[in-house]
Amino acid sequence: MQEILLEKLEREKVLSRSEFITLLGSRDKALSGELFGRAGRLRERYYGKDVYIRGLIEFTNFCKNDCYYCGIRASNGKVRRYRLTPEEILGCCRKGYDLGYRTFVLQGGEDMGYGPDEIAALVESVKKAHPDCAVTLSVGEHPREVYQRWFDAGAERYLLRHETADEAHYRSLHPSSCSPENRRRCLFDLKDIGYQTGCGFMVGSPGQTFEHLAEDLLFIHKLQPEMVGIGPFIPQRDTPFGDRRAGSLELTLFLLGVIRVMLPDVLLPATTALRTIHPRGLEMGMLAGANVCMPNLTPERVRRQYALYDGKECGESGTGTENMAPEEDEEAGQREALNDLRRRMEAAGYQVTAGRGDCRRMLMR
Ligand code: SAH
Repeated sequence: MQEILLEKLEREKVLSRSEFITLLGSRDKALSGELFGRAGRLRERYYGKDVYIRGLIEFTNFCKNDCYYCGIRASNGKVRRYRLTPEEILGCCRKGYDLGYRTFVLQGGEDMGYGPDEIAALVESVKKAHPDCAVTLSVGEHPREVYQRWFDAGAERYLLRHETADEAHYRSLHPSSCSPENRRRCLFDLKDIGYQTGCGFMVGSPGQTFEHLAEDLLFIHKLQPEMVGIGPFIPQRDTPFGDRRAGSLELTLFLLGVIRVMLPDVLLPATTALRTIHPRGLEMGMLAGANVCMPNLTPERVRRQYALYDGKECGESGTGTENMAPEEDEEAGQREALNDLRRRMEAAGYQVTAGRGDCRRMLMR
């Protein structure tokens, strides 16, 4: 019977809070099948069978914040901290470019050692070396003027998950130095400046209810982001939430489908966390409505230190290539990872495509 809600969702692009709660609470095989069918048709209308790739560079794991769920939180004394130099980051981009990437995502903690000027200079040098590439930043909360500087320097996209749209829930996941108001302010500033903006949340974060998820969906409808990043919460043992349960694969896939139907032209990644909780997570994500994948271009020597959660997929190379120098070994590993992704996507009926992969909204509306 909840099929009627799906029809309404596709027509009106939003439901009421209580309808969202009903929809989430009445998930079963038939309803999911109907949802994924609708999501798949909408995805295809805007993006065909294309899968966009973005090269993810996790350039620093220093962070001044202390989010209770995150493995690189300031008070985790067990992580070895690293910070890549601009030259190293440019080196990652150069290698990525040769492999075919035309979008780079520079992600990191809120690192006081990487000031606004340095990040602006970094963006400028990536754009100068690769004018045909899009640069996405994902470095947390900053004043509007700083976001504007980075935009002027050439960053066109920004990822900042809202984490949860419920105020009390937000406060239960973060220390008092972080506020839901500021997070929201950042997202609306980013949109207003003109960034292709991405929000998102973890599925199954500690204390999360269907009521909270309904708020998340309403928030997404209000913000109208160009990108939405969602993935299951996965505990990290050295955090306060180290003994909590991971989020559900099935609920994550269902939410991917719902978001695709709400925002048919959204850029929706099948995230690393999804792949971490299930070996076929990427394929399943695509079948649920995702159309983006973000392979990791972070140098292997530090990759393990960007430990947001336990068991994070590191895509390590280094097997059977003992005659190669480490550099070549690493490039071979990244090439192999990309070929593996291509094969998997083709087997699932999709094709990895080159290009910047911008949001279709501007073109089709
Ligand atoms: N400092 C940046 C980047 C944060 S890391 C920022 O604030 O945006 C990127 C995302 O990883 C976070 O937004 C969070 O949703 C997710 N993440 C962090 N810890 C996680 C965990 N234990 N399980 C799953 N996802 C997690």
